[in-house]
Amino acid sequence: MGAVPILDSVWLVGSGTHPGAYTDTHDCHCYLVWDGAGGILVDAGTGLGADRWLTAVAEVCDPRALAGVALTHYHADHAGGAAAARSAGIPLLASAVTADALATADEERTSLARARAAGAYPPGYRLTPATIDRVLLDGETLAAGDLRIEFLPAPGHCDGHLVVLVHTRGRSLLFSGDCLFAGGRVSIQAIPDCRLDQYANTVIGLAERDVDVLLPGHGEPVLHHAADTIRAAAASFRRLVPPPNILS
Ligand SMILES: [Zn+2]
Repeated sequence: MGAVPILDSVWLVGSGTHPGAYTDTHDCHCYLVWDGAGGILVDAGTGLGADRWLTAVAEVCDPRALAGVALTHYHADHAGGAAAARSAGIPLLASAVTADALATADEERTSLARARAAGAYPPGYRLTPATIDRVLLDGETLAAGDLRIEFLPAPGHCDGHLVVLVHTRGRSLLFSGDCLFAGGRVSIQAIPDCRLDQYANTVIGLAERDVDVLLPGHGEPVLHHAADTIRAAAASFRRLVPPPNILS
């Protein structure tokens, strides 16, 4: 268990499924981008495997040298580890909607109460409230080392979702959280803030970006021609048909 290199400057440092980067069964994929001078983390897992995650990060760089951990959205498998990251000196970056919900560990807005009742989390699992250090504006950019990092609004899977587009060495890497997956799939759930019309606009917008690599919050990465994957999902939405659902 540790940091698993995915491509130049990118490691998988947490996962519920990848054996090499395993942190906890309930965790999403947590990524580290580090170019030797600066970097960022994308998503924090549930917190149940936070020690393993932070140890994996420290194999690659000093965690306190990072710009922070960007939380793609407030679902517990992505944001539950936020408080642990902050305790380790890593600033938290998130949208205003995510910041609001995490400040009070709101189990209704984050759908944690529903997900726990559905068996997605252990019965005793709770979100730890977390204060976001930097609330990200739509389209805001940040520089870390030689990386240029864009934060793009991506509602649809849930309110306040954002994706992280990292430009490095002539390539664009899209960290898509629960917005887009390999095979052009999406993540649609029967929760109050899963909004198909917004999901369509998000994916159609992302299809206009030149994306080389897709690094989703679950499942396999798309390491080549990722724009084709995104365009397939967008084409489906343009026909008013939701793309295949990763959860079905
Ligand atoms: Zn989610």
